Amino acid sequence: MTTHVPQAVQAVALPTTLDEAVAALGAQPAAVPVAGGTDLMSAVNAGRLRPAALVGLSRISEIRGWQYQDGHALLGAGLTHARMGRPDFAALIPALAAAARAAGPPQIRNAGTLGGNIVSAAPTGDALPVLAALEATLVIAGPGGARRETPVSHLLAHMDTLRPGELLGFVRVPLLHAPQVFLKATGRTGPGRATASVALVLDPARRGVRCAVGAIAPMPLRPLDAEAWVASLIDWDGDRGLAPEALHAFGEYVATACIPDPEPSGDSADGRPQLPPAVLHVRRTVAALARRALGRALS
Ligand SMILES: Cc1cc2nc3c(=O)[nH]c(=O)nc-3n(C[C@H](O)[C@H](O)[C@H](O)COP(=O)(O)OP(=O)(O)OC[C@H]3O[C@@H](n4cnc5c(N)ncnc54)[C@H](O)[C@@H]3O)c2cc1C
Repeated sequence: MTTHVPQAVQAVALPTTLDEAVAALGAQPAAVPVAGGTDLMSAVNAGRLRPAALVGLSRISEIRGWQYQDGHALLGAGLTHARMGRPDFAALIPALAAAARAAGPPQIRNAGTLGGNIVSAAPTGDALPVLAALEATLVIAGPGGARRETPVSHLLAHMDTLRPGELLGFVRVPLLHAPQVFLKATGRTGPGRATASVALVLDPARRGVRCAVGAIAPMPLRPLDAEAWVASLIDWDGDRGLAPEALHAFGEYVATACIPDPEPSGDSADGRPQLPPAVLHVRRTVAALARRALGRALS
């Protein structure tokens, strides 16, 4: 994607460290951070945003890679989807790599970043259900070299927000060394925004299955009862296989937890109210994605 400096922008800072970027934001409170610009420039071009100044994050090398730390990967917010889609990253966090490979056409994947995906927090953000299933933590940089951590789910649920002058620096992801899957349905063939997505990770050390459903609500949904139920069926010390009926029941359990039947209205003469056909279609899609994701993770 070609980004140009919007005419209203009076200053563009291009810091080379995270702390310099935080300082640049502090010095210019009206400034907006920009990473790959794929979301931000769309908003500018559509007239929804007129930033007076920009702080570009693309020259900050410390947030463009990752490092290992205490059984976790510390991912830089500036990692692009293209970088996360490569085989070495896929060996580390397969579901996040799969989500990165599915995130839009190549020009978007080359420029768009993990941090931008999180801060934009669009319901269709492909990285978001994966990070929710992995129970990732965000490392936020603030003035004076301050760092604080918050669960990704808190940011997505607006229980926590980036404060003025703060930047998302890193994402801490546990390395589970077990199968994980990301599947996405779109309304058309080829790259497109998700109409529904499912991230599913196995956590053998905790004998857990964690699943998050994306794109059907403002933030990813975790069907916790379905996770616990299916985890109790798995023979964690054996072949970890499940009968097709159990996979099917898991899909239905996830879908119904995320898109429940409407409550009876009381005055309805002809029984329970029905979900509209379009919603039923999404529910069937979620059921199919969850069933397939679990089947693949256990195969
Ligand atoms: C045509 C098109 C198709 C797309 N398809 C998909 C898709 O299929 N799946 C998908 O998930 N996304 C898709 N996107 C959305 C977009 O590419 C992603 O959300 C991308 O990851 C955004 O990253 P960015 O670096 O470009 O963010 P930017 O546009 O640079 O920034 C987005 C927002 O995040 C803020 N920000 C960025 N980095 C930081 C940081 N480190 N700290 C604090 N704030 C920060 C910016 O201020 C801005 O508010 C698509 C976009 C387009 C235009």
